[in-house]
Amino acid sequence: MSHEPLALKYRPRRFADLVGQDVVSETLKNALTQDRVANAFLFSGSRGTGKTSTARILAKALQCPESKGGEPCAECDICKAIARGDDMDVLEIDGASNRGIDEIRQIRDNAAYAPARARFKVYILDEVHMLTIQAFNALLKTLEEPPRHVKFIFATTESAAVPETITSRCQRFDFRRIPGAAIVQRLKDIAAREGISVEEEALAVIAHRSEGGLRDALSLLDQCIAGGGGVITLEGVRTNLGLSGRDLAAPIVEALCKRDKRALLDGLDLAFERGRDAEVLLDDLVELLRAAMVAMARDQSRVEAGPSTELANRFLETLPLQQVLLGMRLLLNARREMKLAGFPRVQLELALLKMILSRELVSAEELKSLLAAGGGVSPAQGAAEAPPRWQPPATLRKDSQPAAPLAQRAAPVAAPSRAESIVAPPPPARPSFQSAPSHAPSPARAVPAASAGSAPTVTAPVVAPTVSVESLDLPKLVLGWPKFMTLLGQQNRMLGGFLVNSEPLAVQGGVLKLRIQTAHALKTLGEPERRRQLEQSLLSVFGAALRVECVAAPAPEAGSENTPSVAPERHPGVMKLTATFNGTVVNVSNQNPAEERT
Ligand SMILES: [Zn+2]
Repeated sequence: MSHEPLALKYRPRRFADLVGQDVVSETLKNALTQDRVANAFLFSGSRGTGKTSTARILAKALQCPESKGGEPCAECDICKAIARGDDMDVLEIDGASNRGIDEIRQIRDNAAYAPARARFKVYILDEVHMLTIQAFNALLKTLEEPPRHVKFIFATTESAAVPETITSRCQRFDFRRIPGAAIVQRLKDIAAREGISVEEEALAVIAHRSEGGLRDALSLLDQCIAGGGGVITLEGVRTNLGLSGRDLAAPIVEALCKRDKRALLDGLDLAFERGRDAEVLLDDLVELLRAAMVAMARDQSRVEAGPSTELANRFLETLPLQQVLLGMRLLLNARREMKLAGFPRVQLELALLKMILSRELVSAEELKSLLAAGGGVSPAQGAAEAPPRWQPPATLRKDSQPAAPLAQRAAPVAAPSRAESIVAPPPPARPSFQSAPSHAPSPARAVPAASAGSAPTVTAPVVAPTVSVESLDLPKLVLGWPKFMTLLGQQNRMLGGFLVNSEPLAVQGGVLKLRIQTAHALKTLGEPERRRQLEQSLLSVFGAALRVECVAAPAPEAGSENTPSVAPERHPGVMKLTATFNGTVVNVSNQNPAEERT
């Protein structure tokens, strides 16, 4: 038996043989039977989806004297010559190696002559997007007024790179990736014809690895047959095919989730050692992050479909949305840098290390707003506090003991009564995608588990309301506000920063209207997750399930910027002092020299 590759041996010869492109073959067959075949076609789609095979079948169907119902006979001289690629009237041209204007002029001039033996002259231009602009322009003339005996079939993996002037003159067909089940079925048929016994799971692995390209799937099958001695098992396939792109991406994903710099570099080393291209690896990671992002944005708890769902779910479970977005931004920047500056490997390493390191930092924007709101960290305060290191906001850090230290710090200040202590730990690190009701609101969960660092989702505490919203009037809120702010400042400093100088304005029907000082703080508090944190903290201090409505503070009048609009004891600096040293304001005296003189 000669060793003919399966991809060639089982190349589809008729429309009926095409796998996974039913729409394309039906449409073309209809056009053929009605004799309404366009002059030019554009077949686009990823590799191995059947573009060139379909082009040949179409050429046969046009030329074959025995063609019936749009199907060529596949047996006559013409059909066979076309299948071999040496028919004199069907010319296959590779756009990648004939991309210049001279080659295209030749085609154009040649097209003027009548076909040698069949009805048409058919030009199949593969990888047409590779043509130069001049070549396209030369082609355009012929496309605009094609001789009646000429048909063009263009095939491309990058239809976006084909000029609009060309595509608009073609009948266009998009070749989809072939579904995994269809590939498995086709592999099964072929294996049966070859007399090879197979495990279906093994074929599924091959189909998955081929990413919707039948030609790749058949090449992989070849490889496994050669290595498996006539039997194809799951284990054999795994051994034969080695590590896939997904296998190589897995340790990198894991390292990113665990913020393990060493494991990250090891994972990258392995991938590069196995010949994985930095750009391809980068694209793999962007694809995974994107899948996680889409699922988060859709409030889905899992990435449902697509290749490498487990890896995407790892991101989904572990990283907060900000981190996913940041990761995508870093990687896309790196991709651009690869093109501009080169050093693809370094660019990728840099982006991924930044992604890990960024989780120890706070974003510049949040830092800015924090400082603008007076919630910044002075060295003195840092020294006075234990732990002295400023804690990144909960939304940016997921895994570094998120809940315990803050709650513990709140404890000595507050009396043990529920009404006074904020028991809410920082929010679940992934905002708004884990709604509280999906967890059983058991009272035990209200106490943050100090050592539960391994749990990927921090359950929001559920504090039951102890008083009705009606019983909570504005005076109570205004009186309790400084204390609330103090506790909030200890428990969730970021949120406290945004609420600096805030003031309860009204409370009605369970809605607390809150005046917010800066536009940025207002915007930030408009985020559902911030709002939820705030309402949770209010609940734990005031005991009522209030909803919050934030309104902007009026713009300061001209000349009045030095006049504080809030009571001195609620000045951010003062509040910070009282919060840090657990003190209270005893006396307020005016030290403004300008006012002293008057
Ligand atoms: Zn024929």
